[in-house]
Amino acid sequence: TQQVALCGVRDQFPVFGQTLPNGQPVTFLDTAASAQKPNCVIEAEERVQRSHYANAYRGVYEFGAQIDEELEATREAIEKLIGAEDVSEIAFTAGSTMSINMVAFGWGGRHLQEGDEIVLNEMEHHANLVPWQQVAERTGAKIVYIPLTEDGQLDLLAFDELVNSRTRVLSVTGMSNMLGTINPIRRLADRVHEAGGIVVVDGAQSVPHAPVDVQADGIDFLVFSGHKLYGPTGVGVLYGRKDLLEETDPLLFGGHMIDQVTKSGSTWASAPAKFEAGTLPIVQAIALKSAIDFVNELGFEAIHEQESLLTRYAMEALSQVPGLKIYGPRLEDRGAIVSFTIDGAHPEDLAQLLNRKGVFVRHGHHCTMPLHDLLNVSSTVRASFGVYNTTEDVDQLIAAIEFARQRLRLA
Ligand code: PMP
Repeated sequence: TQQVALCGVRDQFPVFGQTLPNGQPVTFLDTAASAQKPNCVIEAEERVQRSHYANAYRGVYEFGAQIDEELEATREAIEKLIGAEDVSEIAFTAGSTMSINMVAFGWGGRHLQEGDEIVLNEMEHHANLVPWQQVAERTGAKIVYIPLTEDGQLDLLAFDELVNSRTRVLSVTGMSNMLGTINPIRRLADRVHEAGGIVVVDGAQSVPHAPVDVQADGIDFLVFSGHKLYGPTGVGVLYGRKDLLEETDPLLFGGHMIDQVTKSGSTWASAPAKFEAGTLPIVQAIALKSAIDFVNELGFEAIHEQESLLTRYAMEALSQVPGLKIYGPRLEDRGAIVSFTIDGAHPEDLAQLLNRKGVFVRHGHHCTMPLHDLLNVSSTVRASFGVYNTTEDVDQLIAAIEFARQRLRLA
């Protein structure tokens, strides 16, 4: 049953060319936390540092000009990837967490006031909860939560009722990093816009796995991280609709983001420079273009085909394991993430026993404590897939679970 939709892709990831010290192959099932890097990304970082590294947007000399050009090429690749209207709507950040903080404090801090409502829900990653809690505390705005259905989806009827003239912002994940739930962004955005609010999408999990079109989907701000898109760590993206970025205050102040500085005060450059104070993650941002090219070359259709095949295969196999419970919706409504528990087995023990077989999964609350509270479970095991995974990886997972069950005397 080896799937061929993404034939040969695994070979582009050098990390899989090794055998672990215990003789096991690497079965990497933690792409939702961070993706492995293909040769083209590794080589792009090395190429820049070996041949023409310089600071960005500073020098007129040859290296500087080349760096500026390559950064702008990444910006253009992002513009195309997400369907933005203009490159000035794309700012480089350190990652999704920083980008959400920039929206929450930069836009929310300026626009929210007492009586306003921020719409969130319990499946959000802490990165899309805590900044809003902080802004709510400072502005007097109130957070309201969209209820979730039994199978871990947004309750859309309750959502329709909960949105009203006080709704100023909906911030929602494109895909849950724990349940795998894919949220109907366009559907949500229509309702929020009708009520006069704005829509912020946490694309950390969704952007690497499915096409996004900010204009067609009604997304006002979109954030994502390079490292989950097969790109480098340390670089992320903040997209904001042009008019909204103009009404967003910067979060960081310093070099490059200014227009004029005098002893008595300063004015800001226009976007995106206004949001890019200090030295950018230059090498990482340039290599992010190689990651985007890599994903585009595979194509989201093939990526989806492969990932849904793996998810189906994993869900079917896991559901045969005695005492195993899978969280979240049916296959059709989820991405390539499967979180589960096994009766009588602590998730940390499970993760450690799987590790002995070279199977790398994440355990814990996955930065979704409110969701775990709602599900009445303190911790889960999560297997997540990327373009390099195969059904053999799932077979390894199932074999390792069998080994763990025996060790834990569950079998
Ligand atoms: N949102 C979601 C849904 C995530 O899965 C993550 C990463 N686990 C983040 C936000 C935060 O991303 P980063 O750590 O790259 O800032």
